[in-house]
Amino acid sequence: MQIRNPRTGQFDYEINPLGSQEVSAVAAKHRAAQKNWHAMGFGGRAKVLLKLAKSIELHAEEISNALASDTGRKKISKIEVAGVIGQINRWIMTAEKITSAAIYKNRPTQNPSILVSNELIPYSLVGVISPWNFPLTLALIDAFPALMAGSSVIVKPSEVTPRFIKQLQMAIYEVAELEGVLLIIEGDGETGQALINEIDYLAFTGSVATGLKVAENCAKRLIPASLELGGKDPMIIDESANPRSAAQIALRASIVNTGQACQSIERVYIHNSILPYFLNELIELANKVSLNYPDISKGDIGPFIFDKQAEIVQRQIDEAITKGAVCVTGGKIENLGGGLYLRPTILTNVNNDMLIMQEETFGPVMPIIGFEKIEDAIQMANSSKFGLSAAVLADSIDKARSIAAKLNAGAISLNDGALTSMVWEAEKSSFGLSGTGLSRMGESGILRFYRRKVFISQTKFALPLSAYSEEN
Ligand code: NDP
Repeated sequence: MQIRNPRTGQFDYEINPLGSQEVSAVAAKHRAAQKNWHAMGFGGRAKVLLKLAKSIELHAEEISNALASDTGRKKISKIEVAGVIGQINRWIMTAEKITSAAIYKNRPTQNPSILVSNELIPYSLVGVISPWNFPLTLALIDAFPALMAGSSVIVKPSEVTPRFIKQLQMAIYEVAELEGVLLIIEGDGETGQALINEIDYLAFTGSVATGLKVAENCAKRLIPASLELGGKDPMIIDESANPRSAAQIALRASIVNTGQACQSIERVYIHNSILPYFLNELIELANKVSLNYPDISKGDIGPFIFDKQAEIVQRQIDEAITKGAVCVTGGKIENLGGGLYLRPTILTNVNNDMLIMQEETFGPVMPIIGFEKIEDAIQMANSSKFGLSAAVLADSIDKARSIAAKLNAGAISLNDGALTSMVWEAEKSSFGLSGTGLSRMGESGILRFYRRKVFISQTKFALPLSAYSEEN
């Protein structure tokens, strides 16, 4: 399978997707090794993962260079590598404490003679299927807590960004104890499907369209899954908000990583009284944003990672303009040296029914609608099939919170935007089609990888059959 380079448009890399027999073979090996891995206990597993953190640190440059080729961006690639080391450390510090708190012994029940105790049993083999927008982070974010829980893990990243896999796998191979415990495999959608046929739990991150297929396939095997899917995050800017700082927040939250983030702000609702000030500031800031072309080390935003996504973004912008939207900045994807770039795109005169307000865009696009009454903004923000996250800006946290309480979204940033992925404690459940299953954030990040077994102890005498007999 030939892989496109996002900066040159050339197909300069190749992978050999694993077929279903190969997936079965590695799954059997990992399932077998899991028993010893679990038996090592939290302390043993933490020592091994600490070695992995050191190994990733030693290979940091190769991994981040490969990621930079995968994604066409340099700084975020380095941030991703540092971030996964941080994740390992966090799970090492917290896993045992969280798990111990969920275990109880001889807890009284409403039946005075019966006590309950529990045991948490990790799923043997956890599968992770991840997307291309943050290839390293999203390949490992669910893997580490699953490993700390005592599961073996096989990860199938996206075929769009596979260059980092070999480099990461080198770092994993250097930790002998992870043989048969953690594996990153190359593959496409069929490889992902084959993996679902082998595992006991799926941690999936990706689009709603694939999420629905994956959910169906998990249901056929009755295996649990956590699905982190797409979004169309709204930002509501109340009339009490400062329009200048609102413009700064909206810009950053919409265009970081070229808007290729699930928690990007994708639509803005702002009170008419401050709209002109906000718009002036936003245009000024947007015009200062530079592309990281031709020098990858300079500039604010990179190329689209996936050429098909660039087509979707252009189609949505064109549809909006055809229906009367005004494109104030950006708006046309530029082919520079074979890479596809889009400058921050501000659209006004949009209405809430346009594709740009309803479908996930995954690009640096800010469609803006003014409102008179806050109830109208809330109604428009909620008229969406998605419900991943949102943002509300006002002159006080209390006011922002009272608006946020009426929004159908799992995680809502107050007086900032797109905080979702930065705050580990921010455990959430998505609304609508943005996902299902237990959150990867907070304590459920690890607790979801356990089956609960309960022991029900009769401490006095067991009920005789006569207790159920008709005669009595
Ligand atoms: P996709 O849904 O296209 O792909 C996600 C993963 O699923 C890829 O590894 C893909 O493989 C694999 N896959 C494709 N078909 C199947 C199948 N039938 N069975 C099993 N696996 C399959 O998502 P994208 O890669 O395009 O990622 C972008 C999406 O991810 C956006 O919608 C974004 O919002 C969402 N996302 C959500 C996040 C969240 O936390 N909620 C975080 C980040 C992104 P391959 O690519 O090789 O085909």
